[in-house]
Amino acid sequence: MPSYVFPPLAIPTLAVAGSADLFPVHRVYCVGRNFADHAVEMGHDPSKEPPFFFQKNPDTLVPSGSTIAYPKMTHDLHHEVELVVALKSGGEDIPVERALDCVFGYGVGLDLTRRDLQGEAKKAGRPWETGKAFEDAAPCSALVPAETTGHPAAGRIFLNVNGVLKQDGNLNQMIWKVPEMIAILSTLFRLAPGDLIFAGTPAGVGPLVKGDHLAGGVEGVGEIALTIA
Ligand code: MN
Repeated sequence: MPSYVFPPLAIPTLAVAGSADLFPVHRVYCVGRNFADHAVEMGHDPSKEPPFFFQKNPDTLVPSGSTIAYPKMTHDLHHEVELVVALKSGGEDIPVERALDCVFGYGVGLDLTRRDLQGEAKKAGRPWETGKAFEDAAPCSALVPAETTGHPAAGRIFLNVNGVLKQDGNLNQMIWKVPEMIAILSTLFRLAPGDLIFAGTPAGVGPLVKGDHLAGGVEGVGEIALTIA
């Protein structure tokens, strides 16, 4: 048997609420502009766009309650609170009516964004990685199994920064619903157990500074907290 040339890094994991078990993460997909009011605030017409996707690196996940450093190379770090869908199975070309069978559970995540770097990338027609996939860019709560949450199609999604309400939407405003999101994503990628999907953010995104404390949640799913050091 060949051996590794150096010890492999640990597989990224998320906690499972009410359990000592860990959810092993495979890939982290994100859906862009999935709430009409956020698409409009970013200068786009939500009625004209099919869903689009980008990825974050799984090792950028950090647990809720963490304190992270203000990221390097940005002066415009933004918060985006999102529902996170966690898959226990996958495949290609999953029919929309069978998509929810793939769901292990749900969580609450922050799609942290270096907005200045993302903006430069957009302008230059370059990839979004530097704006989206940097260290500690994906804080996420413990996952709650779907047996507990059901499959939430409505419910408040919100984020406070230093006790001030900044984002306040409802899952029923999502343009692409969870089953559609899984079905469409599975036409582009082979989905697998351990995949996460950050489902998009409502309006109210904005800049963060050192010392900020973030606290948010999704009704019926859970809560997330984060401090910027
Ligand atoms: Mn986002």
